[in-house]
Amino acid sequence: MAKPIKLTVALRALFAVNNSSRARWGSRDAHPVVNATVEIEGHGLRATTNKFGYADLDVSSLSSGDYVLALTPEAGNLLRNSSEPVGAGDGNTTDKAGTCRYRPLRLNVSLTISGGGVRPGAASPCDGATHGAAFVEKPAELLIDWKPDWVACRRGRIRPAGVSPTIILLHRTAGPTPGSALDTFLTSDIASHYLVDVDGHVIKLVHEDIIAYHAGESWWAGQSGVGKLSVGIEIVNEGGDFTQAQYDAVIGLVRELQRNYPDITRHGILGHSEVRVAAEKNLKLEHRPGCPGIHFDWRRLEDEGLGSKADPSLFDESQIDEEYGGCFKDKPEARLPSFIKDGQLLRKDKTPYNVIAALQADLSLLGYSINAVDGMKRTGEYDAATQAAVDRFRRRYMPGVVRSNELMDSIFDRATAIALKRALLDRSR
Ligand SMILES: [Zn+2]
Repeated sequence: MAKPIKLTVALRALFAVNNSSRARWGSRDAHPVVNATVEIEGHGLRATTNKFGYADLDVSSLSSGDYVLALTPEAGNLLRNSSEPVGAGDGNTTDKAGTCRYRPLRLNVSLTISGGGVRPGAASPCDGATHGAAFVEKPAELLIDWKPDWVACRRGRIRPAGVSPTIILLHRTAGPTPGSALDTFLTSDIASHYLVDVDGHVIKLVHEDIIAYHAGESWWAGQSGVGKLSVGIEIVNEGGDFTQAQYDAVIGLVRELQRNYPDITRHGILGHSEVRVAAEKNLKLEHRPGCPGIHFDWRRLEDEGLGSKADPSLFDESQIDEEYGGCFKDKPEARLPSFIKDGQLLRKDKTPYNVIAALQADLSLLGYSINAVDGMKRTGEYDAATQAAVDRFRRRYMPGVVRSNELMDSIFDRATAIALKRALLDRSR
């Protein structure tokens, strides 16, 4: 009988939720995963993690080589019995806020067994799974960060029967890790359905059957209360570029949601910054220009056939001469001055171009709010609400043109006019 050789597996969620429903982040001791099964596949070696998240495996019957370590949560912590990324229909409507659930995780691990001891070497999730990561920091011990796929957040109302979401609203957390966003979501009424981490790991927070308050008082395309019409996806980003893993995860998630909620067309995939937020009473412009912000590259989605698109093949630049009363034919360098009215923009023969009314009609057809009251009534004035709509359009459809996540950019010029016509034609496809 060989002497036991002990391999310790430590299961942690580095991403942890404490008793007061606050997220802690990054501490190796943060959140032990207890009562989980740890198994070396094909060799009948298994153990269950104790209250500190540790499980010891006797690997004396093994020789050095590559193995698969399989982790299975206890039944109460299981999200579902599959390693596929979390998606539509996952989660439930009854978990207490802060409840974490996991999916099974399999890792490739190489073990060197000699001289009565074991040294784990490189270990990584099988099949490119993103819901875990492994670290070797002590001899004979494998530390695994097992990321929850479900962190139950406080809930809104059940979506009314027969009401299926038509919109996916993309957000940016404006923080470096999911922790800060989770603290908001766990302790307030605000929450999104999904949170996409920097490494592409998707955490679900609210079931789609529940209205998540991620859009506040809001308006889009004639409808107020975008939250009740939509599924919200928060993307972890403090500033700067989003990661390829995040684009991949968002694209996968959007497709999965479209499969499950067929009323969500590609034109219903929107950024939070496109939607009017709050009532904009007294022309006080409540706006979320930085969400998802200037670094989010919509072309990544458009290239996958997701989202509306200002498609150059639909409308040649020169065609703009015939639009907006011909104002860009007469003055190619023109920019619409703020607060000007149609009656003040005249041709040589003193007839009005009526460019603002036409602009408002086009913005309105795309869904943008063009006034602070009913969102749709045309004023013929380049007022604050119409300027905000132009800003919303530019940051969505004119990549690289808007330079600030905070300051409004409401230049309506020839290039913007061309992009607007292209987006409109795409919308009718
Ligand atoms: Zn947002």
